Amino acid sequence: MSGRDVSPESKDTAYLMETAEIRRRWLSFFESKGHTIVPSAPLLYDDPNLLFVNAGMVPFKPYFLGQETPPYPRATSVQKCVRTQDIEEVGKTSRHGTFFQMNGNFSFGDYFKAGAIEFAWELLTTSQSAGGYGLEPDKLWVTVYEDDDEAADLWKQLTAVPAERIVRRGKADNYWSMGVPGPGGPCSEIYVDRGPEYGPDGGPAVDEDRFMEIWNLVFMQDGLSQVRSKLDFDIAGSLPKKNIDTGMGLERIASILQGVDNMYEIDEVYPVLQTAADMAGKRYGASGAQTASTSHPDDVRLRVVADHVRSSLMLIGDGVTPGNEGRGYVLRRMLRRAVRSMRLLGVDRPCRPELLPVSMERMRRSYPELERDFARISQIAYAEEEAFRRTLASGTTILDTAVSKVKGSGGRLLSGSDAFALHDTYGFPIDLTLEMAAEQGLSVDEEGFRSLMTQQRERAKADAKTKKQGHTDTHAYRELADALGKPVEFTGYTQVSGEGRVGGLLVGGESVDRAREGDEVQLVLDSTPFYAEGGGQLADHGLLTLGGALVEVTDVQKPITGLIVHTGRVVSGELGVGDTAQAAIDVPRRRSVSRSHTATHVLHQALRDALSDTATQAGSENSPGRLRFDFSWNKPVPASVFAGIEEHINQVLLDDLPVGAQVMPKKQALELGAQAMFGEKYGDEVRVVSIGDWSKELCGGTHAQRAGQLGIVKLLGESSIGSGVRRVEALVGLDAYSHLTKESLIVSQLADVLKARPDELAGRVESIVGRLRDAERQIAAIRAQAVLGQAAQLAAGARDVGGIRLIAHDAGVDVSGDDLRTLALDLRGRLGDSAGSVVALTAVAKDRPVVVVATNGPARDAGIRAGDLVKAAATALGGGGGGKPDLAQGGGTDASAIPAALSAVEAIVASAVGAPVPGR
Ligand code: ATP
Ligand code: MG
Repeated sequence: MSGRDVSPESKDTAYLMETAEIRRRWLSFFESKGHTIVPSAPLLYDDPNLLFVNAGMVPFKPYFLGQETPPYPRATSVQKCVRTQDIEEVGKTSRHGTFFQMNGNFSFGDYFKAGAIEFAWELLTTSQSAGGYGLEPDKLWVTVYEDDDEAADLWKQLTAVPAERIVRRGKADNYWSMGVPGPGGPCSEIYVDRGPEYGPDGGPAVDEDRFMEIWNLVFMQDGLSQVRSKLDFDIAGSLPKKNIDTGMGLERIASILQGVDNMYEIDEVYPVLQTAADMAGKRYGASGAQTASTSHPDDVRLRVVADHVRSSLMLIGDGVTPGNEGRGYVLRRMLRRAVRSMRLLGVDRPCRPELLPVSMERMRRSYPELERDFARISQIAYAEEEAFRRTLASGTTILDTAVSKVKGSGGRLLSGSDAFALHDTYGFPIDLTLEMAAEQGLSVDEEGFRSLMTQQRERAKADAKTKKQGHTDTHAYRELADALGKPVEFTGYTQVSGEGRVGGLLVGGESVDRAREGDEVQLVLDSTPFYAEGGGQLADHGLLTLGGALVEVTDVQKPITGLIVHTGRVVSGELGVGDTAQAAIDVPRRRSVSRSHTATHVLHQALRDALSDTATQAGSENSPGRLRFDFSWNKPVPASVFAGIEEHINQVLLDDLPVGAQVMPKKQALELGAQAMFGEKYGDEVRVVSIGDWSKELCGGTHAQRAGQLGIVKLLGESSIGSGVRRVEALVGLDAYSHLTKESLIVSQLADVLKARPDELAGRVESIVGRLRDAERQIAAIRAQAVLGQAAQLAAGARDVGGIRLIAHDAGVDVSGDDLRTLALDLRGRLGDSAGSVVALTAVAKDRPVVVVATNGPARDAGIRAGDLVKAAATALGGGGGGKPDLAQGGGTDASAIPAALSAVEAIVASAVGAPVPGR
């Protein structure tokens, strides 16, 4: 790039068109063309094949796949997306963010290619004053799939794109499918020519930096029967209803309309970059004119920081918390990469508190909930930064140790396995290890490191492959759902038993017509009272009777929307699809689980009352008599506050508030202040569970009828399970009662043994422990005196070995290493320095032999070093040890070898001075 000013000053002027405005225009344009505006789905979506939503079409998949009937023929959205696979591109290309927003327009069997092309052209080229994006037609290029004459003709007929700027491309670029049998079709992409300063001429096939893809139109027209790879698939026929799915990168069009070089310089991102640059005292773009791909490393780092800060804001906003796997790890990696990049920019202090608010300030224009929720979001982000700073500190100690080991042995290369361990255990990126090793004058075996990384990646890949089998599984479930024709009816809110028809059976994952005694089956009924695990509540157990057959149900899941699958064993008889089943759940288990679930709601509200509204639920598990509840909070809850929460909970139980559930539109529920759980998918109609007027939560679970039915709730404790999230465990009802009874029994036993009243127990135990400690100290002192008491006698018994005075003595059992050292030094002092002297002492401490050797100056001058002697003795004892020439200590495992160890010392002394080995 030449002649373009990317200096910070140029950013102070007003942006040509703010991102929020581009977004608004998009939605209103398509609304005016008969599209229903659909709000962005959360980044976490219950699609088993996706970590995060990565395209605008994801929430509409069931419509494209024909699994659900779309409620509207046309829709438009601006969808939050995260693409983890683009993380390495960030800052290096001009157009890849980990988080970005995808504008989309969708047609479900309504308009097709002509409509999609016309809309796109109109919005892009209508002048800005008339509400469009005002791009000049002669800056636009389009691509079509090589065989798609229809699309090429439509572009020619309906738009002003000259024929030579309609480029045909092959499958790799311009054919879309989901990678599994189902819909597919050709694409048509729209590119903007950013001018000769960005690269060579020739269109998108030549240079994708100059010709930047902004919009992809997918024409879903084919039914694919086999998909072996992106380039190899079978088209079975054309779809009866053809669909349109398009995606335009909001950040990319913003970079064009705002006249900036790349997506990190747009209004929603740049202020963070600028703040980071100020903190580092750097000027972004200072190294002169450059394209994103040839940038100075500092500029790339600033872009990485800006991107990752924004992405983590959006991820935490949607309920992700840092962790070591899956989604949590993606977040952790971004938070750490940002810290790391700031360090490389020379900023060591915590950065999040300065950067995150800047990002929130920008993003709240389109996502006002970020501001409302900022206390929670920032708490999680700051805690993770602190945790990583501690990691860096401890990792640094480990690295230093490894470095001094290498240096100590005269090496200059840190091993690949050390670098890998740092990476794997402490999250040390390799470049950090490289840099820190270089500071100490060492290089790193990068090849060894990389080969270990490859091995690990292969293991992960093998892992992912087994997980991918999820596809085939959901396939089988999908067939069951199709055979059933409508969603399974769940009757369990009001009933504990009922009749249902067997709509499908799986044995060993395969669809079958019949199952018999001993089979492990998965069974679908058209109607069931069995609650499928979900919302933290464990599944019902129970029995199904079908004519003569009996099935014991031990698990119930909802693998896809609308399908409830019972898993169990055929205890007796035979059954088949179409049979009528009498279903009966295990009622005591259900009641107990329901009580736990209600207790969870009570606990949630009590926590929020006591701490703050930011103490929101991050996960839970409701099992019989027991619950686990995770919430966002970054410090321990003080014991007194915790006790207060428990008391409050039990007070609510005494008040016996009624528990009720009501189905209502989601909007109304949120207006009532109902708590929604992050990452849960809610439809337009939601169920609100309330406890009196005090607690309201969106919840699909089952509950007690009144709070009083819970009896007692006993909190077992509270602890951290990761940055910013804490866990409470609790017992409910009879389980709480039994726990308290058991504890009270222990108290009375202790009272008995200690002859004290229960309220005196703590004081009594404290004084006993104190007296015990005093007694132990006295015994140790007496023992040391006894050992030292032998000193005069031992010194007098020193033998002469070739002019060296030698004491080789075993002090016996229960003498500590400390006492042995004191005795050795005392003896060496008594022998004086007039001649060489060596004191070698052994003892047995805690069942293990120890050896201590002390030498004086003249002995050392004669070449006798304590370290060598201890090494020999300890080897004889089956262990190791060492130390300095004047004093050394070691130990072993075999106490019976003590005489041999002392003889070894004598032999070395004798040979050092050329004397015969003395008899003992
Ligand atoms: P590219 O080849 O440039 O990576 P893509 O083919 O992966 O793009 P699509 O999957 O077709 O992109 O997504 C539709 C649109 O979303 C793209 O035209 C682009 O404008 C935008 N987009 C895709 N990935 C990103 C990203 N990482 N950051 C910002 N915008 C993106
Ligand atoms: Mg891509």
